[in-house]
Order: sequence, then structure tokens, then C-alpha cells
Amino acid sequence: MRNFSYTRAGTSKDALSLIAKLPNAKFLGGGTNLVDLMRENIEQPDALIDVTRLPSTEITESAEDGVLIGAEVKNTAVANHPLIRQRFPLLSQAILFGASGQIRNMATVAGNIMQRTRCYYFYDEAAKCNKRSPGSGCDALDGFNRIHAILGGSEHCIATHPSDMCVALSALDATVRVSGPEGERTIALNTFHRLPGDTPHIETALQPNELITSIELPPLSFVKHSRYRKVRDRASYAFALVSVAAALEVENGRVLNVRLALGGVAPKPWRAYEAEKVLSGAEASAETFRRAADAELSHARGFQHNSFKIELAKRTIASVLSELAEAGDKP
Ligand code: SF4
Repeated sequence: MRNFSYTRAGTSKDALSLIAKLPNAKFLGGGTNLVDLMRENIEQPDALIDVTRLPSTEITESAEDGVLIGAEVKNTAVANHPLIRQRFPLLSQAILFGASGQIRNMATVAGNIMQRTRCYYFYDEAAKCNKRSPGSGCDALDGFNRIHAILGGSEHCIATHPSDMCVALSALDATVRVSGPEGERTIALNTFHRLPGDTPHIETALQPNELITSIELPPLSFVKHSRYRKVRDRASYAFALVSVAAALEVENGRVLNVRLALGGVAPKPWRAYEAEKVLSGAEASAETFRRAADAELSHARGFQHNSFKIELAKRTIASVLSELAEAGDKP
């Protein structure tokens, strides 16, 4: 790991003025991904600006009846907070499916959003990787690509986004509040992460001199009837092969409201708009759920080792929706 300076910021204003003065600096929250990346020489910042003491450690109700989660709130605190457990159980479940208890105790909400892919070749300096070294190629395309994307990838990168929490945030239409030299702005979570196209090294809509300050969840009453299911190689401490975040409201046998997002299948949390279109207003039946899944995966592209994810994603979507429909009003 190369040498770097360390400074602690007391306010968002401090943090922004420090990053303006320190080229190639990074904000340090829990550090659960950044420090690993520094150990592997993938991230080589000249300076770390510790933002863990910023006053963004609360979870509160927003003026619009939603919930505001401070950027520095730890993942465990979000998952266990009564407002989240009662009003957004999907988010609580998704966080608890991620990483380990120890990591969740350290990791922050903003850090979770900013974590980087676990593509093996990205972490291997001897491998070709357009994300780590633009223009060098992508060894995953013809390599061992079992964990890679089947939706939204490009000929330059097929890495998947690793977060569980962000899949739930995608389904919940969350927004990310950021602060920068031009003031504050909000970015919809569903446009915050970028698809790779021909610039896989540019992963988010966040500018290098901007700081995430909070996440906002809009009110969504039917979301009490929601599930997060994660399919993975072992029962804990493993990334998703496929995950499904879903909320469903059924009235008189027809789908009144639905939100659906997928994890483990794309370079960003994948909001399943095609499936939602099929589901809206349709009969809440196993046949409809399968049709919706087929529509969502109709553009999927499998590679040598990950084609199995296409059918796995379809079955997981259909199964989670059936479970929610059967549960009815029971949360
Ligand atoms: Fe790099 Fe993306 Fe290819 Fe992985 S899939 S080797 S991250 S370019």
C-alpha cells in the first residue's frame, strides 16, 4: 500500500474544502471496501479524508412522510431501526443478507452505495481490466465469468454491482442527496450507478468533489408487503448470484402496485421496469409472474459460465412474486 495522508473532517463543509485542496483524495467512511482496494493497490489515494465524524448519523422521518438516512449511518443501524423495519422491511432484509455482522457494524450507507465490483480480474493486477486500466481489455469476457452480468453489460465490461442494500433502494425509488462546490443536489438511485458502455471506469453520477450526505426513501405504504431473496453459493458471507427485491399489492386478484429490482445480474442495481409493465393491472397469477420474468430477461446475454443465471433469475422473480401474492395482507 502506498503512503497517504490522513485528515479527519468535522463538517461537510470541511470535507468539501479538504477535497478541493487535496488532489487524488478519497472520503473514508467504514473503509470496508476502500481499505481492501488500497491493500491490493487498486485504489491509490494520496490522502484519506475521514468523514465518520460528520453529523450525518441519524435516521429521521422526512417532511414528505418518507425517511432520511444519514450517509454515515452504519448498515447494522439501518437494518435494525424501527422506522426501517416497520415501513421498509425489504431494506432491512437486504442489508441483513449482505456481508457479515462485523462488516455491517463498520460499513456505512454511503460506502455501501460506493462499493466496487468483486470481479476477480479487477483485483488481479496481472489481468486485463478496462475498469482498472481503461483500454487494456477485459479478461472476464472469455475467462471464468460465473459471477458476471447477464443484463446491462458491454463488450468492455460485464462486472456486477455487489450491493444487496442498493437493490432494495432501487425498488424503493430512493434518492441520493449530495453536496458539492455548486451546492446540494439529489440523484435518483436508479440513475446514480452507470452502465459500463465504453467507459466502465466511470461507475456513478457522483463527481469526484461531491459528498453523499443522505439517502431519502419516499413514502410507499404497500411496501410493507415486500421481500428480498438472495440466491448464493453458501448461506452467509457470499455475494448474490441472483437476488430479487419485490413489493406487491394485489386487489381483487389483480396487481395494483408493484416494485421489482434485481441484484447479482447487472453492473448496477437492476430495476425491472419491463417486468413491472407486464405486471401492472394484470391478474396476480403464476402465469403472469413467469411472463413478467420472461419479459425482463428477454434481453439477457449469458457467457460461458453464467448462462444459468438467466433461468435462475426468472424462477426467483416468479417465486418471490407468488410468495407475496399468497401472503396477501400479511407483512
Ligand atoms: Fe474489469 Fe469489468 Fe472485465 Fe471485470 S468485467 S475484468 S471489472 S472490465
